[in-house]
Amino acid sequence: MNKRGHVLNALLLAVGIGFVLEPGADLDTATKIGQITVPIVLGALFPDVDTAFGKHRKTLHSLPVLAIFLAYPIFFDNLHFVWVGVLTHYILDLVGSRRGIALFHPLSDNEFSLPFGVTTSSKYADLVTVIITALEVAAFWAVHTYVVELDVDLTAATAGLGI
Ligand SMILES: [Zn+2]
Repeated sequence: MNKRGHVLNALLLAVGIGFVLEPGADLDTATKIGQITVPIVLGALFPDVDTAFGKHRKTLHSLPVLAIFLAYPIFFDNLHFVWVGVLTHYILDLVGSRRGIALFHPLSDNEFSLPFGVTTSSKYADLVTVIITALEVAAFWAVHTYVVELDVDLTAATAGLGI
């Protein structure tokens, strides 16, 4: 998937997740979308840094890298929601291309992909991106509702500012 597809996916995903975390359509929803949009877009852009550093689709397209981004909010209380962008980048590369990504790098350089990949040049690329995003929002909602609370409370952050 190209940068345009990754950014489109990240922007739509941030809006969708904003509605999941703050249902309704009021200032709280807009604030939530504002809170998560930049981290998710940054996360979605990060893996392709390996076009310049390391081996593309291997060095920064692996589960250990995703684990690092999952660990930051837990251990350091920062980089919240960046993992969402990294994860959606992997999903889009798995579905939105014929070539796979090396999920288990550096243990293995085997590249994994889904058999029904759609190339970025396909006229269906944007449609596929939107469908994948909708499925991701649904998956996020299911995990957030039934498995683990994924929200990061803003009142804790603003309390530090004395607001
Ligand atoms: Zn990529």
